[in-house]
Amino acid sequence: MNKEFTLILHFKSIIDSNHIVNQIKQIAVLGSTGSIGTQTLDIIARNPERYRASVLVAGSNVEQLIEQSLRFKPDYAIIADESKYLQLKEALQPTGIKTASGSKAIIDAMTLPQIDTVVTATVGYSGLEPSISAIKAGKDIALANKETLVVAGELINGLLAKSASKVIPVDSEHSAIYQCLVGEDPDTINRLIITASGGPFRTFSAEQLAHVTAKDALRHPNWDMGAKITIDSATMLNKAFEIIEARWLFNIAPEKIEAVVHPQSIVHSMVEFTDGAIKAQLGLPDMHLPISYALGNATRIPTGEPAMSLTDYASLTFEKPDENKFPCITLAQYALKRGGNAACIINAANEIAVDAFLHDRIGFLDIHRIICQSLDKIEFISTPSYEDYVNTNTATRQYAMSLINKIN
Ligand code: NDP
Ligand code: MG
Repeated sequence: MNKEFTLILHFKSIIDSNHIVNQIKQIAVLGSTGSIGTQTLDIIARNPERYRASVLVAGSNVEQLIEQSLRFKPDYAIIADESKYLQLKEALQPTGIKTASGSKAIIDAMTLPQIDTVVTATVGYSGLEPSISAIKAGKDIALANKETLVVAGELINGLLAKSASKVIPVDSEHSAIYQCLVGEDPDTINRLIITASGGPFRTFSAEQLAHVTAKDALRHPNWDMGAKITIDSATMLNKAFEIIEARWLFNIAPEKIEAVVHPQSIVHSMVEFTDGAIKAQLGLPDMHLPISYALGNATRIPTGEPAMSLTDYASLTFEKPDENKFPCITLAQYALKRGGNAACIINAANEIAVDAFLHDRIGFLDIHRIICQSLDKIEFISTPSYEDYVNTNTATRQYAMSLINKIN
């Protein structure tokens, strides 16, 4: 991370914490019905003197969005799935809450003048356009949607350089690194060490991996998350994505980022400095803390969750990831070395493959195969424009779908 960048972040923090004292921060929750979205609303509900949910956005779960809207009384409730709009509108009409649907409404809502912070808790590529819209409008971003940085990290950093937006990570590993870097000189960073639980199949043989089902993969040993990220954790592509996310978030050379398997998920990540010191942030595997830290603009606000007792975790272990069994993890260094639209291809192929795996249409090992075949097939663009990312995403999805149809 360069010094100027850190100083800007720090300066913005001081301004922002003064701002909090004077007024309630208005939050847009993009993906309010999901795992991160509902935990964000927990924090907002516990801190009404600090936060208000002013915009709620869901994909298609209209019942839950209506329920949340009646409870949190936002200015706007928006549903991506246009076929659910009438139900939303009729349910919320008597309340005066404004309703809308479709992707354009979501993108426009990110620019509403009353919004201070957007929590990007939507899943996959769907986070990219609303995030760009929020950054262009100068909103602060509590970034959960790592796919935005995976797909178009360089473009996002370019936009951030011209915007008043500040990004604070929600992903637990990146939140841990952010916390470790407070007060440190960025020039003294040796390595970012990103921890990985290893997922539900850490101890499985290659032969066993060929036969695991979606139901097996959805049983994550430590974290309770949405379905897509849970499968990404099982393949370890999630860790590859987190390496890419860290590269753009902290503006650090890819070779200075490594992943280490830590099955207990207590050490959320670490930073090694030039004098050999390693700083870590520890805590229970619970997203309330990183969400709360991001909402509070990197300040500490009690989460209301149980504290951790260190003596319950007498043994903390660390091991190297097995790249032969989990080849998806190697895609991070590949994508970062190749640059351009390579990570966009990986992300799009993965989204299609994971969906097919969740519907028992392909096997677990097919996910990596479909990503690699997509990388071979889809045109590489070394300096993609925004439109190139859009086209790459569409073309890769179509191609990955054709591969799945062949397997079936
Ligand atoms: P979930 O699947 O639980 O939730 C996704 C949310 O996005 C839901 O509210 C969903 O609505 C909404 N959504 C889906 N499609 C759209 C769309 N097109 N437009 C707007 N909203 C949409 O995911 P998670 O909460 O697990 O993950 C969210 C993001 O956070 C991901 O990028 C993930 O990688 C990241 N993350 C998650 C962690 C976790 O602990 N869960 C940890 C670290 C990062 P609906 O319910 O209607 O489908
Ligand atoms: Mg994570």
